[in-house]
Amino acid sequence: MATILDGNKIAAEIRAEVAAEVRDMAAAGIRPGLAVLLVGHNPASEIYVRGKVKSCEEVGICSEKLTPPDTISTPELLELVLELNRRDEIDGILVQLPLPPQVDSKKILMAVDPAKDVDGFHPVNVGFLSTQRPGLVPCTPAGIMEILKRSNIPVAGQEAVVVGRSDIVGKPTAMLLINANATVTVCHSKTRDLPGVCRRADILVAAIGRAGMITRDFVKPGATVIDVGMNKVTERAEFDRLFAGNAKREESFRTKGSTLVGDAHPNAAEVAGAITPVPGGVGPLTIAMLMANTVKAAKMRRGSRMPTRPAEHARSA
Ligand code: NDP
Repeated sequence: MATILDGNKIAAEIRAEVAAEVRDMAAAGIRPGLAVLLVGHNPASEIYVRGKVKSCEEVGICSEKLTPPDTISTPELLELVLELNRRDEIDGILVQLPLPPQVDSKKILMAVDPAKDVDGFHPVNVGFLSTQRPGLVPCTPAGIMEILKRSNIPVAGQEAVVVGRSDIVGKPTAMLLINANATVTVCHSKTRDLPGVCRRADILVAAIGRAGMITRDFVKPGATVIDVGMNKVTERAEFDRLFAGNAKREESFRTKGSTLVGDAHPNAAEVAGAITPVPGGVGPLTIAMLMANTVKAAKMRRGSRMPTRPAEHARSA
């Protein structure tokens, strides 16, 4: 059976390093600030934002939550973003997605100052990543690289296959793996013989959004599987396909009526050398890297006035 890569433990290490950096900054009279824009009352978004605000409190970052109504127009939201761009004490701006349909999301994300774009979605930061210049890297892909690095999984010279080509996960993960000298293949819904391509991988990243799609037939024996997927399974038949005979999952499925599943089928762990669990794998890293990105943004914006620590240089974000 595969080694389980404990994302909670790695995320806790990163949060502790970030907290130490924030303490050093406080000694220099600076407190990094993160503004979170949460439009309307999307229940999932509210849960994510709560997690982000709590994490800020833990590491000592000052957080500010703005909650405009879901009737807000594009120009009104644009004005809020521009105001946050102007405020010096705000180092990071996070626009929680999805935005309501009447809002032009692309226009809003483009308006965020690239120096404060802690999600790393702005084309300027995308360009910095692809040309290996210092910038802000999307949190989930940066977290994936931290898992690999801190689990001593070699990347340089390895075959990496990324399933998924989204701007948020697949593409930036592929770019980070290329920058780390892996040989990278990116797959998507039109890829021919997906299991065959995946079986070439020493490192297989699944960022698809299909519960349990990556079965043992997709995995080369001993490969590392990074499971990014977060899928809520509510159907009994689907549950049985994935977890028949798993008493712990069965109990939680019965009580909650659903269970959180990755893109990897549980039987992938029988073949892989190492695998990230869901929950408790990549997910916790995403928020930890948001904290790291906020501190990084604060330091980059304030330049040489800021103290530095070795941990900060070691991180890929
Ligand atoms: P998207 O829906 O934007 O992208 C999914 C990608 O998977 C697309 O490139 C799509 O191909 C590809 N795909 C879909 N079906 C297939 C298939 N049958 N065979 C091969 N490729 C396929 O999703 P995201 O990248 O935003 O997210 C992916 C997953 O990661 C989701 O489960 C999401 O919830 C999770 N996630 C988890 C995070 C975390 O913190 N752990 C953070 C962000 C996302 P095509 O381009 O051809 O349509």
